[in-house]
Amino acid sequence: MFEPDGITQELAVRLKAFMARHVYPNEARYYAEAEQLGPWGVYPVVEELKPLARAEGLWNLFLPPHAGETGLTNLQYAPLCEIMGRSLMAPEVFNCAAPDTGNMEVLLRYGTPEQQAQWLAPLLAGETRSSFAMTEPEVASSDATNVACAIVRDGDDYVINGRKWYTTGATDPRCRIIILMGKTAPDHPDRHRQQSMILVPKDTPGVTVLRPLPVLGFYGVPDRASEVLFDNVRVPASNILLGEGRGFEIAQGRLGPGRIHHCMRLIGLAERTLERMCRRAEQRSPFGTALADQSVTLERIAEARLAIEQCRLLTLKAAHMMDTVGNKAARAEIAMIKIAAPAMAQKVVDNAMQLFGGGGTANDHLLSAAFATARLLRLADGPDEVHRNQLARFELKRHRNTDPRETGGDAHVLSLEEVKQRFAHLRPGAPGYPWA
Ligand SMILES: Cc1cc2nc3c(=O)[nH]c(=O)nc-3n(C[C@H](O)[C@H](O)[C@H](O)COP(=O)(O)OP(=O)(O)OC[C@H]3O[C@@H](n4cnc5c(N)ncnc54)[C@H](O)[C@@H]3O)c2cc1C
Repeated sequence: MFEPDGITQELAVRLKAFMARHVYPNEARYYAEAEQLGPWGVYPVVEELKPLARAEGLWNLFLPPHAGETGLTNLQYAPLCEIMGRSLMAPEVFNCAAPDTGNMEVLLRYGTPEQQAQWLAPLLAGETRSSFAMTEPEVASSDATNVACAIVRDGDDYVINGRKWYTTGATDPRCRIIILMGKTAPDHPDRHRQQSMILVPKDTPGVTVLRPLPVLGFYGVPDRASEVLFDNVRVPASNILLGEGRGFEIAQGRLGPGRIHHCMRLIGLAERTLERMCRRAEQRSPFGTALADQSVTLERIAEARLAIEQCRLLTLKAAHMMDTVGNKAARAEIAMIKIAAPAMAQKVVDNAMQLFGGGGTANDHLLSAAFATARLLRLADGPDEVHRNQLARFELKRHRNTDPRETGGDAHVLSLEEVKQRFAHLRPGAPGYPWA
């Protein structure tokens, strides 16, 4: 089921070869540069590899078919994204990294030709990077209707005031554009029409990147989380995306593909972690027995294999549905995989850390950065609980619309009369009483 087609297979062969030749051998350098240059730096190794990937046609593979151009479907992209996800540095090398892919899709779908020429073209060329600023420190942003940043019309401009954090990528010197979500109509009776999205060039006066934020102590890799202040930031009214009050609609569209890309990458990360775990299990023998012969190890390896396969199938199903019935109809599947994949990857990496012993907590075996990645993805793009609630509501609604007589799914409470009739014989002394 979901066998990769010829195009996908051919690209997969080339991607794997590129990973073996250029990515894996350079990972130690990548982490060293990240540590040395920090979250405000550009890591030379990535910039060196990008032109090679582009020259080999392994570039912007995330792009869906658009405006008469060819592109890969979600189902075609899934196995390729998985291969890239095996290394935390790879997605950027192939210009397929978050948050740029989501932002590029927004510009592609909702941007005007002028906005696309100015902001999308350099992103597609890998010359610039971008950020997405929705979350705010002062409100519970998992409920996006709480987002309070003010976007106020003033003549031909909008003036923006607010504080954002976890704005991934804002410390990156290549980041030129921020897609910001705020409120243009805070009093609109429909809570989902209060928000708008607007393009804010990072060099606009009043935009200050206040600080990089560590993720479980890591700065820069695996995530350039940042806190950003917007203080009387003035941008032309034409920077609004799609129109006032359409922010929620864009957010829904943006997060669908973005969420599933994260899941595809996590499957690759878990797959590689399992491979390393198996090798290590055969190399080390505490108390005279190879780790690979300990039942606890066998159990953990088997559980990891099971969980990875389950998540991969669910991801492919979600991708297939997005391609065939659309992102909206695939919402339940997207929610399911967004819950399942980070938890799966976190558990696989956690068990690998245990098997690797003390060294598992350093990044020598790439495990601590992998753990941070899986863990942060239980929050980024919406915390687990929010997706679970949404999924449960879909489920409740689904059963509201089915006939329990056809499905046998009735939750009918027996009436007193029914109990009396059906169970009278179970009372001692009653005719037909079954027990002596
Ligand atoms: C590394 C990293 C990168 C990120 N990148 C970005 C980015 O680029 N741009 C951006 O805008 N945001 C980004 N985020 C922010 C992320 O999307 C938010 O942290 C997330 O949506 C939760 O919002 P919050 O932090 O305000 O938590 P809150 O809304 O305060 O929620 C706190 C906790 O409450 C619980 N909770 C929430 N709702 C429910 C519910 N309905 N039922 C039960 N429990 C619930 C959950 O456990 C949740 O974690 C990133 C986060 C991280 C960690």
